[in-house]
Amino acid sequence: MSDKVLIIEDEPTIARLVTYNLSQEGYETEVVGNGAEGLHNAIHEDYAIIFLDLMLPGMNGFEVLQKLRQNGVKTPVIILTARNAEEEVVQGLKLGADDYITKPFGVAELLARTSAVLRRSRNEETKEAAVSGSEKIITLGDLQIFPDKYEVLLNGQWITLRPKEFEVLLYLAERPGIVITRDDLMNVVWGFDYIGGQRTVDVHVSSLRKKLELNQQTVQIESIRGVGYKLMISRKAGLTGR
Ligand code: CA
Repeated sequence: MSDKVLIIEDEPTIARLVTYNLSQEGYETEVVGNGAEGLHNAIHEDYAIIFLDLMLPGMNGFEVLQKLRQNGVKTPVIILTARNAEEEVVQGLKLGADDYITKPFGVAELLARTSAVLRRSRNEETKEAAVSGSEKIITLGDLQIFPDKYEVLLNGQWITLRPKEFEVLLYLAERPGIVITRDDLMNVVWGFDYIGGQRTVDVHVSSLRKKLELNQQTVQIESIRGVGYKLMISRKAGLTGR
C-alpha cells in the first residue's frame, strides 16, 4: 500500500497544517487546491488516504467524493468540514467518506483519525487477501461468520439468524468500523425494488442485536443517528481475519 497522502484543500493554512504533521509521521504528501484536479489525481494515482475539503472552488467535495466512488476508487477518504455542519457530515458519509474532521482541529485528532482509518483499511486488505482461495470465514473478536453456509458462531455457540439478519450482519462485518447507511443496507440486502421502508432495516438490526447480545461482548452494532449503522469490535478482542 502506498504511503502517499492526497490533500484536496483550498485553504493554505489547513493544507499546511495537514501536510506538516503528516510529513512528520513519515507520509509523503501532495496538496491540490481544487476539486477537479483532486479527482483526477485520486483516480490516476495510488494513495493511502485522501483528505477532502467540502467547500472547494469549481467542483465541490461532495461531487469529488461521489465521482471517486462511482469510478470504483476505494481509497479511504476523510472529509474536512466546518464546525456545526452536521448535515454536511451526514451527506459525506452517505457518499462514501470513511470519517470526518471538523475544522479547526488539533494535531492529536488529525493523527488519531488518520491512523484509525488506515488501520481499518489495511485490515480490510489483509482480510481480503487471506480469504481468497479457501472457504471464507470472517473472524471479528469472538464472532465467526461463514458466508457460504449462512452460519454464525459467537463465543463458541451457533447463533440462529434469519436469512436477512444474516445478510445484514455479513455486510456490516465485512466493513467493520465503517458507517453503513440504511439505504446501502436496504439496497444490498433487500434490493432496489423492495417496497417496504427503512423501518425494515431497523427491525432487523434490532433483532440481530438481541441475538448477538445473548452471548457478548466484543461485537456491537452501533447506531449512527440519521445515517445508519456500524459494526464495532472492542479493542481487547482485536481484529483478525482468515
Ligand atoms: Ca474550502
